[in-house]
Amino acid sequence: MNKDDDFAIHMNPEEFRSAGYAAIDWLVQHVIESDVKPISPQVEPGDIRSQLPVKAPEKGESFESIMDDMNRIILPGLTKWQDPGFFGFFPANSSPPAILGDLFSTGLGVQGMLWSTGPAITELETHVLDWLIDMCGLPKQFHSSGSGGGVIQDSASSATLCAIVAAREKVGEGTHLSEMCAYISEQAHSSSEKGLLIAGIKRQNIRKIATTDTFEISTKALQEAVQKDLADGLTPFFILATLGTTSSGAFDNLVDINNVVQGKKIWVHVDAAWAGSAAICQEYRFFLEGLNRVDSYVFNPHKWLLTNFDCSAFYVADSKFLIKALSIVPEYLKNKASESGKVIDYRDWQIPLGRRFRSLKLWFVLRSYGLETLRKYIRQHIDLANWLEKQIESHPKVSLITTRSLSLLCFNHVDGDEKSKKLLKD
Ligand code: PLP
Repeated sequence: MNKDDDFAIHMNPEEFRSAGYAAIDWLVQHVIESDVKPISPQVEPGDIRSQLPVKAPEKGESFESIMDDMNRIILPGLTKWQDPGFFGFFPANSSPPAILGDLFSTGLGVQGMLWSTGPAITELETHVLDWLIDMCGLPKQFHSSGSGGGVIQDSASSATLCAIVAAREKVGEGTHLSEMCAYISEQAHSSSEKGLLIAGIKRQNIRKIATTDTFEISTKALQEAVQKDLADGLTPFFILATLGTTSSGAFDNLVDINNVVQGKKIWVHVDAAWAGSAAICQEYRFFLEGLNRVDSYVFNPHKWLLTNFDCSAFYVADSKFLIKALSIVPEYLKNKASESGKVIDYRDWQIPLGRRFRSLKLWFVLRSYGLETLRKYIRQHIDLANWLEKQIESHPKVSLITTRSLSLLCFNHVDGDEKSKKLLKD
C-alpha cells in the first residue's frame, strides 16, 4: 500500500482543517451564542431513531452530509444544557476554553493510565489538583506532597465508589463483607447507595440516616445507628457526608460527624459535587469546617466551575488504601518508572485502566479566566439567587420550602402540587 492509499482512509489534512473550522463555527452558533428556544426538545420517544438508517453506511459520507443530519435530526432532539435559561438539575457549565482543552485532549488521542504512557498527563493533573487545594482552601492532607493526593474522575459517582472500595480495604481483611455497615443520609445522592451495592455491601447493611427539618444528617441518629451496629457485632466502615445535597443544598456538619467516628476505623467520605466550587470564594468556605479530619472528598468542576463534563476532583488523605484496593499489575503494564516508586500511575486511583487527558480542560479554564473572574462568576450566581429569593419572599403565590443554599432555591406554589407542577412546566 503506498502512502496515498494509506491516507485515503482518513480525511486529508485540508479536509480536516476546513471541517474543524466549520465544527467550531457550528458550536459558536448553536452553543456559545444560541438562545434558540425551546430549551427542552419537543420530541416523542423513538422520534430520533426513526429518522436514522437501519444500518451503518457501507460507503463513507461527506462531513457536510453528516452536519446536515446534525442540524436536522440531532440538534432538535437535544436539551439545551448550556442555555442561560436552563435551570434543570444542577448546572453542568461548559465554556470556550474548556471546549478547546477537551478538543486538544481528544485530538492528541493520548492515554494517561500510567505515568510512562504520557508523563505530562499525570504531572499536569497532579499539579492542577494541587492548585485546586489552594484555590478552595482545602486541607493539606489532600496535597500530593504528603500521603494523600488528588485525581480527576469522570464523575462524583465514580469517586464515591473509589472511596468505598478504599474504605473496605482500610477496615482490613479480617472483616467479612456481610458484617460491614455503611451510613448515608436520607438526602444523600443515589450514587452512594449504588456504589455500596457495587462494592458488595449488603442492602440491609446500608443505613439511611434521618435528617433534621433542614435536611442535614441527624448526627444523633447517626451516633445511635453506629452504636447499635457495634453492639450487634457488626463493623461500621463508611460514612458519607454531603455538602450541598441534591434536593435542597443542605450541608451535613462535618465536625459533628468526625466526633461520631472518633477512635473508630470508619472512613468519612465527603460529597460536595455541586457546592464544592463555591469554596473558591473565601466567604463560602464555612461548610468546609471539619474537612481536615476526613478521609476523602469530591467536588465537580464539571458542575459549577466552567469545565465541561467530565471532571470530578477526588481527593484522598492517604492514597495507600485506594491503591491497595485498585492496583493489579499484569506483565504488560510493568515499566521502570512505576517500579522506581517515583511516579503516580493514576490507573491505580480509578476503576478503568484507560484515562483521558482531563486536566487539560481544567488547566485551560483556570488559566484563561484566572481566579478573580471565576470568583466573580460564582458570586454573580449567588447574587442572582439572592435576588430571586427576595422576589419569592414578597410574592403571595409562591413560598420557599427551605432557606436558600448558595445559588439553589427550592420553592413551591402555595396552592398545592398541581399548581407547582404547572409552574415547573410553564
Ligand atoms: N453527589 C451529589 C450531591 C450530586 O448532586 C450529584 C449530581 O447532581 C452527584 C453526586 C452525581 O454527580 P456525577 O454525575 O458527577 O456522578
